[in-house]
Amino acid sequence: MRESGTRVLLDTVLDGKLIKELSPHAAVIATGGRPRTLPVLSGASRVIDSADLLMDGETVTGRTAVVIGGGSTGCEAAAYLAKLGNEVHLLEVAEDLAAGMEILNRMSLVLSLRKAGVKIYTGAVISGAEGYEIRFKNKSGDAEKITADIIVSSLGIEPDRSAADLAEGSVKNVFVIGDAGRPGSIAAALYDAEIAARRIQAVEF
Ligand SMILES: Cc1cc2nc3c(=O)[nH]c(=O)nc-3n(C[C@H](O)[C@H](O)[C@H](O)COP(=O)(O)OP(=O)(O)OC[C@H]3O[C@@H](n4cnc5c(N)ncnc54)[C@H](O)[C@@H]3O)c2cc1C
Repeated sequence: MRESGTRVLLDTVLDGKLIKELSPHAAVIATGGRPRTLPVLSGASRVIDSADLLMDGETVTGRTAVVIGGGSTGCEAAAYLAKLGNEVHLLEVAEDLAAGMEILNRMSLVLSLRKAGVKIYTGAVISGAEGYEIRFKNKSGDAEKITADIIVSSLGIEPDRSAADLAEGSVKNVFVIGDAGRPGSIAAALYDAEIAARRIQAVEF
């Protein structure tokens, strides 16, 4: 980046003052996403995000854990906690875990979770939380509750639009790329970046 002459500002949050100072012809917003939350979980005591759990490498053992969200990250968090010797309950609203995953990989994932003793609840709709108690309706519509020591949220990522909204109000050409536009993958973010760079090159300023 230095070789290309790019000025890099670390420890810097984009704000109105900086936009005014730079007054760019184009802005590429790549601020990523933030973990999605469920309003019904507002009464829960401490909710750990699954990415934080996996990255921080918590070593808690012998506890009861509830993982909310059975996408691939939620399944990974459940497997991780079970391997550490915790009793793990995995709650997923859809009928299948890791619905986007290729079917053979998904079957092997579900088998390994069951083998690790993870209790899987698909079709589970969270209805409330208080302290460390999670209430939900199971797939038959019956009310259930689990009292856990650890609550992990794994509800996916939603775009962080704050910088995009700021830029769109004052910069003529704004390109919102990567997870800030639509949460996806590293490859999708790089594709967006390439398209944005080509479009900036093509724009006549
Ligand atoms: C647990 C987990 C596992 C994943 N595993 C994979 C995988 O195996 N393969 C894969 O392809 N994808 C994976 N992904 C998805 C992948 O990480 C993202 O799609 C990708 O990182 C998106 O890139 P990005 O540049 O849009 O955002 P990010 O990589 O999130 O980068 C955004 C950057 O913007 C900065 N920022 C935020 N707000 C501001 C602001 N106001 N001003 C200045 N800077 C700001 C942030 O600090 C951050 O450095 C995973 C995601 C998660 C959560």
